[in-house]
Amino acid sequence: MTQRFVVAVMRHETNTFSPVPTPVVDFGRIGPTDGPAFGDEALRVYRDTNNPVAAYIDLAEAEGAEIVFPVAANAHPSAPAPDAIIDLCVERISEAVTAGCDALFLDLHGAMVTQGYDDGEGLLLRRIREISPELPIALALDFHTNLTSEIVDNATIIAGYRTYPHIDMYETGDRAGRTLLRAMKGEISPFMVWHSLPVLTHMNRHAPSMEPMKSMMAKAIAAESDGRVLNASIFGCFPLADIPHVGLSAIVVGDKRNDPDQAERLLYDILGEGWDRREEFIYPVEPVETSITDAKSLAESEGDGPIILADHGENTGSGGSQDVMAVLQEVMRQGLTNVVAGPFCDPTSVQTMVDAGVGTTITLLLGGKTDTPSMDLKGEPLEVTGTIRRITDGAFTVTGPMFTGVKMNIGRCAVLDTGDIEIVVSEGRYEPFDTGCFTHAGIDPTRKSFVLIKSRQHFRAGFEPMSKGIVLVSGPGCCSSDYSLFPWKNLRRPVYPLDPDVESNLPTQS
Ligand SMILES: [Zn+2]
Repeated sequence: MTQRFVVAVMRHETNTFSPVPTPVVDFGRIGPTDGPAFGDEALRVYRDTNNPVAAYIDLAEAEGAEIVFPVAANAHPSAPAPDAIIDLCVERISEAVTAGCDALFLDLHGAMVTQGYDDGEGLLLRRIREISPELPIALALDFHTNLTSEIVDNATIIAGYRTYPHIDMYETGDRAGRTLLRAMKGEISPFMVWHSLPVLTHMNRHAPSMEPMKSMMAKAIAAESDGRVLNASIFGCFPLADIPHVGLSAIVVGDKRNDPDQAERLLYDILGEGWDRREEFIYPVEPVETSITDAKSLAESEGDGPIILADHGENTGSGGSQDVMAVLQEVMRQGLTNVVAGPFCDPTSVQTMVDAGVGTTITLLLGGKTDTPSMDLKGEPLEVTGTIRRITDGAFTVTGPMFTGVKMNIGRCAVLDTGDIEIVVSEGRYEPFDTGCFTHAGIDPTRKSFVLIKSRQHFRAGFEPMSKGIVLVSGPGCCSSDYSLFPWKNLRRPVYPLDPDVESNLPTQS
């Protein structure tokens, strides 16, 4: 009899401090306001893409199984999502499972918080398990997962991304999916062990491309590829969430038939290293003023290309509003010249410049339209005078290595030229991972001395190769690098580094 596999996507990385709302309509993959995709449309959108679910589809086809794709819901990082999105996903997936299902393959994030529940994925899984307690379930999770027992207890196999920026999404789905298929065929007898440390890593310090995560991830990859364990994954955590279960964690899928103690040994070996090297996960914050001064001296050094000023205090990719102006203000105060900055999200100012027309000299109260009540931050517009150089439709095709060839639309844009600084203002939020946000507006960033953008990590794809130097700037906002600025209420305590003397919760080795 033909097997029937159900595949589904539900992804949201929730920054509980973010002022940017997350309506259900934003859970669309194709555009910001398309809403979730269902059935054939979901299949059409996700097939042959670098996503875990695309690997599930390929595996199902190779098995000759019927594929049912009830729902794909994927929103950009922002504030807690409405409970309705979980209800919708549970309803669609349950319907598909109840109609007959041999296995469920889920492509989830792992750091989703809703307005009523702090573990979105756990809730989804528990509700599916309630209707089908024995169903084999494979999960692919983001590297920024905050792992919980509710997630682990309600899944059969879990695998996580091993890269940041994330470029191994398909591979992760393939790893999780293959293990589940082997289990279904009776080739293996999987079980999972996991652990979460009381450690908030810093996102500027936890990428698997840098130490100490590099060594830890190498252990996981080696154990999985030489067959000692079935899967081994480490999660750096998503620290911008005021919920109890945030923390550096790992999960190992072992085989009961093959020295089952190995899974646990590997788990504690990996996390033991993470604990011992916890200090290396801390990113030291310096004042914005110092970073800009450093950038000025770096610009004097030998070499070609601009200095990239990467303000990661409120980048869109982590839930920021993209309109805090503090770093630009400091750039102006210190008199940097030949600068391009943006895109800052401010639809009102775009409209004002469209109405005024190209060539007009104008004084604007730019950006700062968004308050961040969770951090007691009031939006502070920056008064800027300049000449409107260009208005665009905000459409460009990505030429850089991340999402190459994808057609972007960041809303209408306007370029305001102060003489020293060309400021790009956009209607939509966009984290600049590609230079198209500037080049489509006639600005060549390679000819600038400084490029000021709001991004934490993804900018490296498009901007690092052209740059003479990179200065990370800890601007204010809901993605701040300074954890002492967040009004934590629900986090587990004690936790490192907020409570530097916290003790390890690893079992003592005998
Ligand atoms: Zn992530």
